[in-house]
Amino acid sequence: MIFFRFLTYNKFRARNWPHLAQNDRLEAYQKLENIQAEKQHRPPCEIVAIPMEDGTHGKFSQLENIIYLNENCIMDPHLVYHGMFTIFHEGRHAYQHYICFRKEKLHKWSTAYRWRKNILGYEKGTEDTFSFYSMQPIERDANRYALNRLKQFHRRYQYDPLYEATVKLCERIFVEEKLKAKKDLGLFHRWKVNKNIEKNIEDRSDIFLDD
Ligand SMILES: [Zn+2]
Repeated sequence: MIFFRFLTYNKFRARNWPHLAQNDRLEAYQKLENIQAEKQHRPPCEIVAIPMEDGTHGKFSQLENIIYLNENCIMDPHLVYHGMFTIFHEGRHAYQHYICFRKEKLHKWSTAYRWRKNILGYEKGTEDTFSFYSMQPIERDANRYALNRLKQFHRRYQYDPLYEATVKLCERIFVEEKLKAKKDLGLFHRWKVNKNIEKNIEDRSDIFLDD
């Protein structure tokens, strides 16, 4: 199966990607997600490309088991590695949901317990509450995971300036989000983010968190 992975990864190369038809690009993203799902021992999501206006690149729907990908990642060849990053990020959300809701009882000190609490009290965020959104555990984890996964391709895509630039940009955003949170929320930003999640759970009275 390693050979088929190689064929998929090769499609994202700068000398191949711009020449692929849009359908073939969507298929390449789907194959990338299938590889990810296999690595994470979870069912693969369907990748669906849609227009997204607000600058987001992707969205994971737990109910449909679909990863919605901004169609720009298919139409604009310069966004190829942003597309890869998005598949890794949203696929990590699929993994988080998978391990959080697979069984009812979770150990109180487990990562899955913390993630489930976060999912139930998820903060969508606005411009004013951006740090509550970006620093919540499941978003931070998905970005960390996607960044590391993208960086693992540094040999395969070496000498590709677009790859290098995308990695640098994703890295910078990851660091700047933390700096912004420290500035906006102060030294106890982690505690405040957690309190905000607990408040969201209380506000959504129809949802109960099993202790
Ligand atoms: Zn996310």
